[in-house]
Amino acid sequence: MFHLLVAACLTSDPSVCSDRLLPAADAASRAECEARAEAALRDWGARDGLTANSPRCVETGALPALRLDEIVPGVLVHQGVVAMASAENRGRIANIGVVIGPTITVIDPGGSRAEAEALYAAIRLRSAAPIGAVILTHPHPDHSFGAAFFAEVGAEVIAADGYESYLLPRRETWLGSYIDGIGLAEMLGSAFAPPTSTQAPEGFDLLKAPQAHTSADLMAVHKPTSTVFAGDLIFRELTPVVDGSLTGWLDWLATTRAPASGMIVPGHGPVATTWNEAVTPMRTYLQTLKDTTLAEIAAGTALSEAVPRIVKAMQPLAPGWADFDATTARNAASAYAELEWQ
Ligand SMILES: [Zn+2]
Repeated sequence: MFHLLVAACLTSDPSVCSDRLLPAADAASRAECEARAEAALRDWGARDGLTANSPRCVETGALPALRLDEIVPGVLVHQGVVAMASAENRGRIANIGVVIGPTITVIDPGGSRAEAEALYAAIRLRSAAPIGAVILTHPHPDHSFGAAFFAEVGAEVIAADGYESYLLPRRETWLGSYIDGIGLAEMLGSAFAPPTSTQAPEGFDLLKAPQAHTSADLMAVHKPTSTVFAGDLIFRELTPVVDGSLTGWLDWLATTRAPASGMIVPGHGPVATTWNEAVTPMRTYLQTLKDTTLAEIAAGTALSEAVPRIVKAMQPLAPGWADFDATTARNAASAYAELEWQ
């Protein structure tokens, strides 16, 4: 297959440029791709304050492609870097799932348009099937900024009820901080895509969680292979981020059994083979955070003093978790605010 690449530059600052893939010109031959280039450029160029130059058609194998590992036949995973987003890792920290069948389903399309394009190239090296749906497990940018690219490819964008109401008040802040952290060139063309459906695509169950990691989390279960895409309801090796409700998340853990018998793909960290393996370290972390925070509240410690004391008290858990101190400090502050009035 041939794909149209353009040099996309900020109209307001033409020194900021990145190659971008415009899927509207995808074609079986170079000549066909070139014939579609003009219309694809016209439709795409003016949006987002970008100017597109130097169109050229290249074969799939010439595109940068994400690594995908097949965990069971037809089910592929890209494991993100186990770290918080940075310029060094280009925000490519979230795990991504791809299920290839008569149509293709993507679970969490990555943290930028650039990552989504590299994911698309990796998919197209394996299959020319239509990409029917992108499932967003929750609104965090590392999982969702790639969605706009797949909407352009023609995929349905599926998310939980409550996705947009959670996202809207946070969207501008997240976009700004992601651009600051990762760099504008890498993020050129990235945007949140509004969900177009809450319905599970064929072959999937979507299991919504009450307020837990955020307030719009879901797990996607691929029924034919019993694979569970848990999103950030399950963290492994990267310190869990509490951005919804600590008690809600612990309640969810206490009441949720393995929804299927297959592999468990967490939002961050390695794929697990059993539910217990997937959730036990995280449950220990969250329960310790709750107990430690409640002890500081009971002792009458003020928030500003409690945060470093909680981080210090939790140090025995630190070796198992990346970005432990910074994320635990933020979690301690939100846990304190949540638990203070209970
Ligand atoms: Zn998240």
